[in-house]
This record gives sequence, structure tokens and C-alpha cells, in this order.
Amino acid sequence: MRNVSLWRALLGVEKTVIEDVEFDEDAQVVVAHVRPTRRESSRCGRCQRRSPWYDRGQGRRRWRALDLGTVRVQLEADAPRVNCGEHGPTVAAVPWARHAAGHTRVFDEQVAWLATQCSKSAVTELMRIAWRTVGAVMVRVWNDAQAGQDRFAAVRRIGIDEISYKRGHRYLTVVVDHDSGRLLWAEPGRDRATVTRFFEALEASGAGRCARITHVSADGADWIEDVVAARCPTAVRCADPFHVVRWATEALDVVRRSAWNDARRAGHTKADGRANGRAQRTSTGPAEKLKRSRFALWKNPENLTDRQRAKVEWIAKNDPRLYRAYLLKEGLRLVFQLPFPEAAAALQKWVAWARRSRIQAFVDLQRRIMRHRQKILASIEHGLSNGRIESVNTKIRLITRIAFGFASPQPLIALAMLNLGGRKPLLPGRA
Ligand SMILES: [Zn+2]
Repeated sequence: MRNVSLWRALLGVEKTVIEDVEFDEDAQVVVAHVRPTRRESSRCGRCQRRSPWYDRGQGRRRWRALDLGTVRVQLEADAPRVNCGEHGPTVAAVPWARHAAGHTRVFDEQVAWLATQCSKSAVTELMRIAWRTVGAVMVRVWNDAQAGQDRFAAVRRIGIDEISYKRGHRYLTVVVDHDSGRLLWAEPGRDRATVTRFFEALEASGAGRCARITHVSADGADWIEDVVAARCPTAVRCADPFHVVRWATEALDVVRRSAWNDARRAGHTKADGRANGRAQRTSTGPAEKLKRSRFALWKNPENLTDRQRAKVEWIAKNDPRLYRAYLLKEGLRLVFQLPFPEAAAALQKWVAWARRSRIQAFVDLQRRIMRHRQKILASIEHGLSNGRIESVNTKIRLITRIAFGFASPQPLIALAMLNLGGRKPLLPGRA
């Protein structure tokens, strides 16, 4: 076979003998017949250990490689089984692909890189593969990436949180490193057993690592707090400010919804056909304004568009109670932007203000905040209010939306870890 080194480069393979290359013009596929070099042959597909020949397995098989121009490429080779001392009869390892994969390593790398860079349809259309296949690739690439990495080595300050996926029906527990801003760990579930698995993984990566954790932030949920108290009793426990601000945003939304319902009951609606066998009524006048004010009320004032600012001004004039709720939410947000001593005093003032507000949602919120006061102040004192957890949190939410079509949470976790775990996939041939 001539031009072996050219073909090796084009196919992106190493330690591989190229026996022949043929072009199937009807199918528009280049098929390269290959085999591992002698050194690489007869190795167990799972542990790479040299093992005696077992049988021919299922004969010859094919692996998809990166396209050459617009033409598809496949590698074809024997896939015999070897009898590994540890794993028994196992398909032999091949240098060009991961064990049990139907695609070459460089194909996997390119898919992983694309999946962290562009949309679902861009990846599947460009690479001509199904989204499920992308999921399988992500899991393979992530398993390899984490194998050679001690991601828990220098971890001191962590944040623990939950993320919903599958339209809020399923949950992941995620752990973020406050110092590097990286996603450290993610697994399905939101209960004590899941949090316990994280601490077990941490301790398994190096004895004494749980005890070296100095700060843990969370949203105050008991299922996190209990395990943290047991596993790292000396760590300072903090409340992530963005969770606390989210509580306030939720309280504000309760007030907004009740104002909207009041406006509708006062007759600010009009008939709008039927849906699901029931007469529909659209909000009008003030009810419509309140319905559409949701995002304006949520956003930080410095980020409001002119239209949203006008909505907030309209509320200030027409619904003083809702406007007071808005000011309470904003007041709480500002507490977290103050230096520690002022923040402590400001939080106290805020609590008194909310208690007297005669707005039930905020009276309840002030009680909740008093319950978590120590943890809230600790996060300000120790500088954990840097928004890193929030930014990782926001990015994972985007990933969960993209990953909706994955059948299991594993590809979603792999995609999130590859994106946010500090180990972004590299584009093959550019490293
Ligand atoms: Zn083996």
C-alpha cells in the first residue's frame, strides 16, 4: 500500500496498518481496511493487557471516521476476541477507537468539541449522526477525560445545589468549586444519599479531603445541610446570595400574581374564544400590564430596557403595594453588594422593613431569612457572594435545555462536565 503515512494522517489514526483503501462510488463511501500494528494487537479492549486469542468474534466490522471532504469514511477491520485474565473473552482493543464505540477517536473528539460549541442541529447535521449518538460520544469522551485527572485535588470551598431537567421532573445535584468556578461533580437525584455520594467520592480521591473543606454554600435545604454537618463539621456554612435573592423574586411573583388576579376579578378581561372546552378570557388594561411586567420586576434595574423601566414606573403609580414588594426585593439584593459590617446592619433593617410590610409573602420571607441569617452573613463575610455558582448554574440550565433529547442523565452530566469542569474537548489535530 503506497502513501501509508498520507492515509494515516487523513484518517487520523496511529499505530495502525493500512492494508487497502477503496472507494465505493455508489454509496459515496471511502472504506479503509486496517489492522492494529503488531504491538497493539491482541490486547483486551477494556484493560489493554496483552491476552491470548479467543475467537474471531463477530468477524469484520466497521467504524465511522471523519469525512474526507464531503465523502463519508469508514474503517474496516477484524474484531477478534481475546481471553483476558481479568475480563474473560473480550473484543480486542483497537488503537483507532474506544472500546465498544462505532466511531473513531478523532470522530469522537470532533463531536465532543462541537457539542460544547454549537447547537444540537449544527452537531447532528454536520456530523450526520443522531443526537443519541452525540450523547454516547459525550459519555465516552468524559469517561476518558476524568480517568487521568484528579479534579478534587485543591478543593477547599464548594457550593452544593440542585438543577432540574426534563422540564422540572428530574433533578441533578451539582457541586461547584468556588475558587476555580468549575463544576466539580454532578449526579442524578436530590436527596441525602446523593450528597453523601459526593463526599464519598471526595474522600475516595484522597483521605482527609472532606476535613479540608473550609466553606460549603447551599440554599439551606435540609437534605444538603444534614450531610454537610456530618461530613465536614468544621466547615463554615454559607447561604448562596443568589438563592436568597431568588427567594425574594419568588415572593415578589406571588404578590404580582395576586395583583393580576385582583385586576381580572375587577373585570379587566375580555372573551377570547374557547380552549380545552373552557371559555378563555384575555387580560386587559391593568391586568394585561401586570401580566406582562414579570420580567421587568425580576431584572436588576440597571439592566432594564426602556419599555421595562416604563412598566416599573407604571406599577409605582398604579399599584403601590406591588411596588413596595419590588422595592423589598431590590433592597435585599443590595444587601449583598455591601461590605460585611454594613451588610449585617442592612440585613437587620431589611428584616424589620419586611416584617412591617403587611405583605404576607415578605413577612414569611423575613422569617426564612432570620432562620438562615448566620449562613447569609457568613457568605458575605467570607466573600462567597461572587456569583460564580450562579453563573455555573445558569450555564448548566442552558445545557439541560440542549440535552433534553438524551434518554438518560449520563450524557447530560458528561456534556456539563466537559463544558464547565475545566476540561473542554480539543479539536483534533489542533492541540
Ligand atoms: Zn482486560
